[in-house]
Amino acid sequence: MRFFETQKIEDCITCIKSVKTGEFMYLFEGTEKAILLDTGLGFGNIKEYVQGLTRLPYDVILSHGHHDHIGGSFLYESAYINPKDIPVFKEYGDMKMRSRSLKYMADEHNLSKNDFVPTREIELLPINHGDLFELGGLTIEVIEAPGHTPGTLCFLLREKRILFSGDACNNCSYLFMRESLPIQEYQKTVRMLLDRGEEYDRVLLSHWRSEVPKSIIQDVYDCCTDIMEGNADDEPYGFMDIEAYVAKKRDHKGERVDGKIGNVIYRKDNIFSRR
Ligand SMILES: [Zn+2]
Repeated sequence: MRFFETQKIEDCITCIKSVKTGEFMYLFEGTEKAILLDTGLGFGNIKEYVQGLTRLPYDVILSHGHHDHIGGSFLYESAYINPKDIPVFKEYGDMKMRSRSLKYMADEHNLSKNDFVPTREIELLPINHGDLFELGGLTIEVIEAPGHTPGTLCFLLREKRILFSGDACNNCSYLFMRESLPIQEYQKTVRMLLDRGEEYDRVLLSHWRSEVPKSIIQDVYDCCTDIMEGNADDEPYGFMDIEAYVAKKRDHKGERVDGKIGNVIYRKDNIFSRR
């Protein structure tokens, strides 16, 4: 069975897509080193797959601790993560927790449990805001972007003028999760990404579409404003036992009916900062 496929974004940027479950990972290659950004849910062997894509030595970086980004990390000795997301990694990386999504995904996509990478102990290496990874002709800057989770990271590919936003800001930014920050706090993160808009022209995501226009950041900022002012469309969104709302009305394909891209899903009890 084929678990992964690739799409070239640039010579030095490969988007790796999980064929069945749909999440994206990225391989960034300089002249001397490479980075694997995120590792998917854990169906199939991403480590073997990357061996067929590059001969460069590479580090594994996790954009945040959610199960659909960390699953393949258990194939490695170590991975970088923002220390603020280690509690999220531990919770979502727990095999009991992962077994739930394993069972659901295996049934849904006709996958064998034998193809799933089991949780094991790995070394978590800290990365922080402002850290730079020099890959040789390609500089990756770490940008802390709390909201989706407390330790979510974005990455700026400086020479390419590309921002990896991942789950930090996307077409259905999940801000309703237990570990998500209030919308008011989150909007400060989005403001910071907007303020740095002169440094990038394109945005990469982890789900839906690999590359989107940078206007997605402004869309998400405006969603936050509308949520706080009580002007959101508020389509009900059930997720497990959580009562959440989609800020902007969507069509049957899940795309905004007004043609904009960025959207936010949130809880009404987590809009304003508590302090
Ligand atoms: Zn996530």
